[in-house]
Amino acid sequence: MILPPPFVPADSVFRGVGVGSAVVLGQAYVPVTLKTERRRLADIRAAEAEAERFLAAKAKLEADFREARDRLPTEVDPLDREIFDVYLSVLREPGLLKGVLDLILDGRINAEAAVSDILFRYREAVTSRLDPRADYLKDRADDLDQLLEAFTAALTGRERFPRGGFSELTVIIVRNLTPVELTALPRHSLGGIVAESGSATSHTALLAQALEIPAVMGVSGIVSRAASGRRVILDSAEGHVILGPDRDAVGFYRVRAASLAARHREIVRMAHIPAQTLDGAEVEVCGNLQLVDEIPAIMSYGGDGVGLYRTEMSYLSRRTLPGEEDLFGSYRRVLEAARPRPVTIRTLDLGADKIPQGLGSAFSTENQALGLRAIRFCLKHPDVFRVQLRAILRASVFGNMRVMIPMVSGMEEVEAAKAMIDETARELRAEGKEVAGRIPVGIMVEVPAAVCLAAELSAKCDFFSIGTNDLIQYSLALDRTNPEVTDLYQPLHPSILRMIKTVLDVGRKTGTPVSVCGGMAADPLSSALLVGMGARMLSLPYFDIPRIKRLIRMSFLSDLKRLALEALSASTSAEADRTVRSWLLKKHPDLLAA
Ligand code: PEP
Ligand code: MG
Repeated sequence: MILPPPFVPADSVFRGVGVGSAVVLGQAYVPVTLKTERRRLADIRAAEAEAERFLAAKAKLEADFREARDRLPTEVDPLDREIFDVYLSVLREPGLLKGVLDLILDGRINAEAAVSDILFRYREAVTSRLDPRADYLKDRADDLDQLLEAFTAALTGRERFPRGGFSELTVIIVRNLTPVELTALPRHSLGGIVAESGSATSHTALLAQALEIPAVMGVSGIVSRAASGRRVILDSAEGHVILGPDRDAVGFYRVRAASLAARHREIVRMAHIPAQTLDGAEVEVCGNLQLVDEIPAIMSYGGDGVGLYRTEMSYLSRRTLPGEEDLFGSYRRVLEAARPRPVTIRTLDLGADKIPQGLGSAFSTENQALGLRAIRFCLKHPDVFRVQLRAILRASVFGNMRVMIPMVSGMEEVEAAKAMIDETARELRAEGKEVAGRIPVGIMVEVPAAVCLAAELSAKCDFFSIGTNDLIQYSLALDRTNPEVTDLYQPLHPSILRMIKTVLDVGRKTGTPVSVCGGMAADPLSSALLVGMGARMLSLPYFDIPRIKRLIRMSFLSDLKRLALEALSASTSAEADRTVRSWLLKKHPDLLAA
């Protein structure tokens, strides 16, 4: 992590979650906050006029949302467009219309206050329903806050942003920015966005990423300290914002902006050189994909394909489950963009901390990581699974697809999942729809039971992919989302290294290709060991691809094998860590620092 230099006063630095990888020096624009005023209405005539005002604002918002959706560039994923459908579906809910009209006509309160009260109830329903730590629930609550702001703007007729754009490169600093506002902002003078609400997975962040607008989200307390017209620096690579920087800070960040741009050019130039060790072993380095819009980045950062497509992500940002056509459109787009490179599409890994709004009641709130998750959920809800399988299989003819089943703990699950895949393929063919002739089907090895059964499972699987994030969670018995046990979450724990080695050895003996797609693949310390232990395919976030490829290109496999043997004989994580760290410090100090 790059911290702001010590000469930058600490109280001018604000932190959040960065979207994109850029440094922007511009002027701040802080829109006025539209307050929700509360008034009592004098009589029924006033209440009726207020109801009319509400209905007109609602109609305007519906038109604005539809227009904003249509204004998005065609390359934005169809599923990302759904953000606007989310708003439209809230607007069209009979409960909203009735609730607001009742409050206006019977409760005699003004439209702004009535809308605010009803949306507040919705918000409470969302936040009280499930695990409050889950980011996407917070995002849904933010969606409702954004809808309230949009309503207030429509009711008061006040615009938060100048229609004609800005005269200088501008960084917008807001409490909340709705996706509609984002798409309506004039792009030529827009340097970036800083928002107090939102996270990396909030809709505004996802759209900013898709539209390549640098942003820092979730920056608390910045709006009250910022003023329009003042200079501001946004570092989206590090998630920092600096208000009112002095000359030294501006000088420092100009250099950083230039070096980031140069690094980006270098990354793109080197990224496409294959990851081959100095003694000739080839390793495929693929990208992990959450959002369809990440696919161009995986390709330009030198990904050899998609090693893990986390398809459940697009289920989380919606109020309703996606339909077959939308899913098919997204999967087809990924396959076509990656072709001829492989795309490993993972079937739904819903459950644990990934519970879509429309399915909340299907999951218990107790011990979620050990509950109905991934393939367990899919087999218990074949109606949901079948829609996804149909979309996957129909997309299979558009590229080089592999299908991967998550959280397998025994043979029966693989058999049942494969039977459903076969049955769905037969059903599609009977309908005259094309399905690829042979689609490799493999599993995530991320539950200790699957490690023990690897030899048997290999007979049923075309490939394995080791999910180290869950393998660590389930082997060391620690919830990966619980901050109280973060220090115990140790990828180099001897039990983890030995389990990974076991799976790689079974793969070699049985001819089953084994990749690694958890967080260990993205870390230079552990990825050096993975290659040394025999992994020949890694899958990681796109921005880590270039440095892991570089590490491989600059290493001898013989060295990595020796290093792995030494680390495997360690009896504690600390000992393994020391071994690898000192090797990396000697051989590739730049990678350790990066
Ligand atoms: C893993 O468990 O390592 C993995 C890659 O899957 P996810 O992080 O999506 O659970
Ligand atoms: Mg997992």
